[in-house]
Amino acid sequence: MLRTSPTVVEIDLSALRSNFLELRQKIKPSLSILAVVKSDAYGHKASLVAPVLQEAGVDLFGVGTVDEGIRLREAGIKKPILILMGPLEAGPELLFEYHLTPVVENLEVARSLNKVAEKKGQKLSVHLKVDTGMTRLGVPCREWDSFWNDFKKLNFLQCEGILSHLAEAGDLDYTDFQRKNFQSVLQALAKSGDLPRWRHLANSVEAIEGAGEDRVNHPSNLVRLGLVLYGAYPIPRLKTKISLKPVLSLKTKIISLKKVPTGTSISYNRTFKAGRESLIGVLPLGYADGYTRILSNKASVLVHGKRAPVVGTICMDLCMVDLTEAGTVSVGDEVVVIGQQGSDEIRADELAAWAGTISYEIFCSLSPRLRSVTRINSPK
Ligand SMILES: *Cc1c(COP(=O)(O)O)cnc(C)c1O
Repeated sequence: MLRTSPTVVEIDLSALRSNFLELRQKIKPSLSILAVVKSDAYGHKASLVAPVLQEAGVDLFGVGTVDEGIRLREAGIKKPILILMGPLEAGPELLFEYHLTPVVENLEVARSLNKVAEKKGQKLSVHLKVDTGMTRLGVPCREWDSFWNDFKKLNFLQCEGILSHLAEAGDLDYTDFQRKNFQSVLQALAKSGDLPRWRHLANSVEAIEGAGEDRVNHPSNLVRLGLVLYGAYPIPRLKTKISLKPVLSLKTKIISLKKVPTGTSISYNRTFKAGRESLIGVLPLGYADGYTRILSNKASVLVHGKRAPVVGTICMDLCMVDLTEAGTVSVGDEVVVIGQQGSDEIRADELAAWAGTISYEIFCSLSPRLRSVTRINSPK
């Protein structure tokens, strides 16, 4: 596809690799690492990111859907791929064809997969999900024993892993509650000699915060890392525990400039009026690119290493910035929307705070129409 816009998503593969190696060092060697690359690697382009992580030593990959799993195989991923949402409608045939491992969250799904596997005469490996308190997917803890009894009768399914997902990063008591629930399921499995190869509960936060502690009786052997691989912090307190490099930058260029007199209104609904004679720049970036309209009159961008505020309502394909204090600027000058320029930096979590959301959503909202380029050597 020909893409001519100067607006680009830049993926720094060296930063990605360095984050992984930093995390690998921090996390106990007894724990394997599953890289979560769902939603196109949180907007970081799974086909670029996953091969680098595979090469760096990631043990498994996790995606949301079967089609995301197929795209990873097509990108050369040989490691096990876990389909976190299960097969959904995609058709279980594809699980066999592409060697994908579904997460199974109830008996109904298990039975239907077993039927397909039996017809094929091939065993299918699955991971089973327990709901320990997230109340989303998974077998509720209290129903585990009866679920397991029924599951064991399904001869064409092989339980290769068991997992659960945490709901809290702030309330550690709730995490403890979930951890205990998970442990009780693991203990029941251990007792009957059914402990599967993989046991996993931790996300980014838990993997880092649990790293130094000795979790007695918690025989997990795998952590699932998402956001931290991309160099962002799920919660601010992680900043004191590990130093990560942002992987994604969003850059564009000034495409038009105009000087306007005091009192001039800017953009739709005239939500901004120039309080002085101003220099206004136009950027080819709008809400269709994922630069959400909520950022109107709230965000800033970097031009010549200085912050320039977004003024007026963000349009579908365009937005305006106040360059009055940016010094001498010209059409074609680089504008950094997310990332570093000069000595200043706008991280996704700062943008998220302006928009009243989280960095996860900022990343995932970036439109696939944006051109992406890779960078190999981090600037310094
Ligand atoms: C998205 C996801 C993760 C990763 O969460 P982070 O906070 O990005 O580490 C882990 N496990 C499951 C099941 C997920 O859906």
